[in-house]
Amino acid sequence: MKTHHQHHHHHDIVIVGGGICGLATALALHRKGIRSTVIERSETLRAAGAGIIVHENGWKALELLGVASTLRLQTPISITSGEVVSVKDGKRESVPSWGEVRAIRRSDLIGTLASELPADSFLLGCKVVGVHFHPTTSEPLLYLHDGTVIHAKVVVGCDGLKSVVAKTSLRLDSEGAMPISATRGFSYSPEGHNLGDKFVVHKDVASGSLLGEFPLTPNLLYWFLLRPSTPQDSVACKDKKLIKESSLETVKDYPPEAQATVRNSDEESLHLSESITYRRPWDVLTKKFRRGTVTVAGDAMHAMGPFLAQGGSTSLEDAVVLADCMAAELLVRPPRVVPMVLALDEYVDLRRKRVFWLSLNTYLLGAIASPSSSRVTRSCCILLKKVLFSDPFEHLLYDCRRS
Ligand SMILES: Cc1cc2nc3c(=O)[nH]c(=O)nc-3n(C[C@H](O)[C@H](O)[C@H](O)COP(=O)(O)OP(=O)(O)OC[C@H]3O[C@@H](n4cnc5c(N)ncnc54)[C@H](O)[C@@H]3O)c2cc1C
Repeated sequence: MKTHHQHHHHHDIVIVGGGICGLATALALHRKGIRSTVIERSETLRAAGAGIIVHENGWKALELLGVASTLRLQTPISITSGEVVSVKDGKRESVPSWGEVRAIRRSDLIGTLASELPADSFLLGCKVVGVHFHPTTSEPLLYLHDGTVIHAKVVVGCDGLKSVVAKTSLRLDSEGAMPISATRGFSYSPEGHNLGDKFVVHKDVASGSLLGEFPLTPNLLYWFLLRPSTPQDSVACKDKKLIKESSLETVKDYPPEAQATVRNSDEESLHLSESITYRRPWDVLTKKFRRGTVTVAGDAMHAMGPFLAQGGSTSLEDAVVLADCMAAELLVRPPRVVPMVLALDEYVDLRRKRVFWLSLNTYLLGAIASPSSSRVTRSCCILLKKVLFSDPFEHLLYDCRRS
């Protein structure tokens, strides 16, 4: 197995990816007294995409991770309700919200999770190019970009949408994509925004776009803009000035205050995703998410469209449930393959039951919103959504604490 130019290292539990899910998983394990190593390809821990909306179920997970109170101090506004405003005729429809809802800075979330971990938990600037199994011992081997090989007892792939762990060790490689582009940013106004503790969504049926605005502090708001993808998006997403210009173009018929949100945005915070990529709900239901002692969590397992703003919160839930299942095995005996396999299977089973429904719900919302859906598809999806998801808040009731 060894060749003369390869360096070999040994770690017990390796988490691939230092995003929301990877750091939350490391912290959930740390809270149980279990050490792990996070391998991140970037040289620093950072999160693109400005803000993230965290719902009641996500706050429950953050409480269990012991970081909810710090994050609440960084984001004082707890959102109470919202409004959907029609761009065409200004008609307003109020939307209730349920439980605790806050928009927080992704950098605060990443920074807070990381600050609670021992400094030697991270290997930064290390890109995993493949995860395979030792031909005789079956232990997972992580191959890094520089030729290093890491021998691990357990690997958790938290490496996001295009997960190398999912592709190379679990052989999961089919993702769905919707031709909807998403821009996100922060807007700061010295004199303060006028949202109070409410969110606003401006909806423009004519252009198939919508702008959501969520307050974080009295002066700072997080906004996102969804619209049909264009061929120019692949160029625009690399240039913050172009992201701003294309966003202003999209909202040119919106009310002046909505245009001002985009115009006043902090250019550095802007981020454009060319399309919405997700794991198909039937794949979430049927695919294998554990092979040997390798599993996946977060977007690597169940990337979903942003329509319910649940990808991050469910990633936090994954972390708590996985640590619970692993601790139940590890605290009684050293990591042995068979009990660990059982623990990982229990984790996959619990999470599959939870995320399948969310994945289906967001899939239907995406098909309803997508410009490429036919009228028949849209009508079927509206009907299915009404039948299966009549209570809009049911998914928020989930508590990842195991009884
Ligand atoms: C437009 C949009 C809006 C959204 N809004 C919300 C919202 O409001 N609320 C919400 O809850 N969710 C939201 N989401 C979803 C949420 O952003 C994701 O579900 C969440 O970020 C997933 O976290 P993750 O850690 O699994 O993956 P990621 O955040 O993608 O992190 C993966 C990490 O792995 C690293 N990595 C990748 N490959 C490798 C490799 N080969 N080797 C080493 N490291 C690697 C990456 O650098 C990265 O740091 C939104 C998503 C989109 C697209």
